[in-house]
Amino acid sequence: MSVTADALRELHQIHKQLTDLRGRLDRGPKQIAGSESTVRRMQMEVEQIKEAYQKARVSCDGKQLQLKGREDKIDDLQNKLNLAASNKEYQALNDQIAADKQANLVLQDEILEGMEKIDELEAKLKAAAASLAKSTEEGAKVKQRVEGEHAGLESELGRVQAELKVAEANLPVDIKGNYDRVAKVRGEEALAEVDGKVCGGCYQMLTSNMMNELYMSRPVFCKSCGALLYLPEGRVVDDGD
Ligand SMILES: [Zn+2]
Repeated sequence: MSVTADALRELHQIHKQLTDLRGRLDRGPKQIAGSESTVRRMQMEVEQIKEAYQKARVSCDGKQLQLKGREDKIDDLQNKLNLAASNKEYQALNDQIAADKQANLVLQDEILEGMEKIDELEAKLKAAAASLAKSTEEGAKVKQRVEGEHAGLESELGRVQAELKVAEANLPVDIKGNYDRVAKVRGEEALAEVDGKVCGGCYQMLTSNMMNELYMSRPVFCKSCGALLYLPEGRVVDDGD
């Protein structure tokens, strides 16, 4: 029983195509999942900033209300001051007004800081929302592309699988069982091109007996990795290398 290097090379090529197609079919859903997780992460980020923004607003609004109340209180004290009956009362009111004014200065600083923080968060929110919109758009594009390619890849896979069946049917029967076992587990690594005098799959040195068999177009399996070996294109005689 003989098998040509050309036939094995073609069979190997078919296996490589299958590996490539399966890899592409496998990658698609992963790409979709990846972009979906990016979108989810960005949504969470936007929510977190929104929350911080609202919290900052509430806090700032509260402080402004507090300030307004204290200013009203100072106005009130001012009126009482103008009507003070005694020097002692006048002094007490005056001290109270001074203390309240001092406290208001602190509060005013806090309000300014709060407003700056609100501005910062607003800008951050805007940027995060823009990134989210961009990622969502990109994610939709990835999904569309993957889904668009899927049918084509599936039909290509079917076509190449049929090619594989035909090529495998042409293998000599006495090695079919051995090949099938290796192919089932190792896919495209069930075959290996000879590289010099080593197996191209595992780099195991091949014996001269194995090389001779190969030159006679006899099926030879690598003793180390089990791959069905074939000679490179154009290499038909022992050139003494
Ligand atoms: Zn090998």
